[in-house]
Amino acid sequence: MAERTNLLDLTLPRLTEWFAQQGEKPFRAKQVFRWIHQRGVADFDAMTDIAKSLREKLKATAQVRAPAILSEHRSEDGTVKFLFDVGVGNGIETVFIPEDDRGTLCVSSQVGCALDCKFCSTGRQGFNRDLSVSEIIGQVWVANKRLEELGAARLEDAEYHRPVSNVVMMGMGEPLNNFAPVVDSMAIMLDDNAYGLSRRRVTLSTSGVVPNIRKLKEALPVALAVSLHAPNDAIRSKIMPINDAYPIATLLAACKDYLEVAPRDFITFEYVMLKGVNDAPDHARELARTLAAAKVPAKVNLIPFNPFPESGFEKTERDRVHLFQKILMDAGYIATIRKTRGDDIDAACGQLAGQVVNRMKRKVVNVHRQARPH
Ligand code: SAH
Ligand code: SF4
Repeated sequence: MAERTNLLDLTLPRLTEWFAQQGEKPFRAKQVFRWIHQRGVADFDAMTDIAKSLREKLKATAQVRAPAILSEHRSEDGTVKFLFDVGVGNGIETVFIPEDDRGTLCVSSQVGCALDCKFCSTGRQGFNRDLSVSEIIGQVWVANKRLEELGAARLEDAEYHRPVSNVVMMGMGEPLNNFAPVVDSMAIMLDDNAYGLSRRRVTLSTSGVVPNIRKLKEALPVALAVSLHAPNDAIRSKIMPINDAYPIATLLAACKDYLEVAPRDFITFEYVMLKGVNDAPDHARELARTLAAAKVPAKVNLIPFNPFPESGFEKTERDRVHLFQKILMDAGYIATIRKTRGDDIDAACGQLAGQVVNRMKRKVVNVHRQARPH
């Protein structure tokens, strides 16, 4: 028997097409789509306003399958970290960060990452594979259901009555290197028949894959965060190999163009503070000059470095982070310092690597060895 179609892989237009192929009307697709995403239902028998005959047909040809939760850690501050099973030895992580006025889910887009940023533990693991739509939107689907079970506070705001009100594509992987599945997943997040999040509540973070920033502008311009991490090309190339392909001036030009359609009128630049590498007062001044020269309205988010074994980098002291922030603010930029959440459960950026992933790391290394010509 052919594999049943996983309906979690399909956007509403795709689901409608699939229904048409089965001889079913478009409004049926919309009903099923709502059952799946708005109510979190996977069992066709529970879809009570669908005719029994159609339910039977769906049971034979389709399924709603999300990745299973391998483990779940809850921090004292309310942060929840999920480890999802995405096949043999592979784990991806998803983090829920509750705040007073929102619940943000940090979603992964790939298993590992090919871009090899020197300060990132995901990058150190190498690239394993891209996630499918059902594995990406599945993180939102499962998290909403599970957080409701856990009694995560529902937001007062009637529009966002489910736990996840915001999504940031800032988990493992480079979302713009898994373009189509990421765009489809975000389309489902925005769809009023699914999660109904506005474009400003969905943020994609990229290390700067310039051609795909341009494609995203055409396809689905959500809020954009760009991992800059350096005030000049010499430093950036040392810590982010992608800078050799798309240097800062090229990247900032693409950011400026993106703003023509972006849901916010600034780009968020992420800047991880690495002791003795990019954190001097002169670097702050140079960063302000670089942003000003490119004429990109910008907000800078200073990220305390999250150390991991053998990273070779150290955290900048608090005072120096504050000094860096002050210099940017004096130059007229909004600069924030990212609060570290979920410290007790290793839920911070660049730490999204549990034991399962460490196992994978060895596997990836081995694969690379075998692939190397002798
Ligand atoms: N690949 C995308 C999104 C995932 S990384 C990107 O690079 O933007 C999300 C953010 O965490 C990026 O800004 C990344 O640079 C940052 N990050 C990676 N490793 C980190 C670490 N060890 N400490 C703090 N931030 C880190
Ligand atoms: Fe990949 Fe982002 Fe990590 Fe760089 S920082 S290696 S792009 S996940």
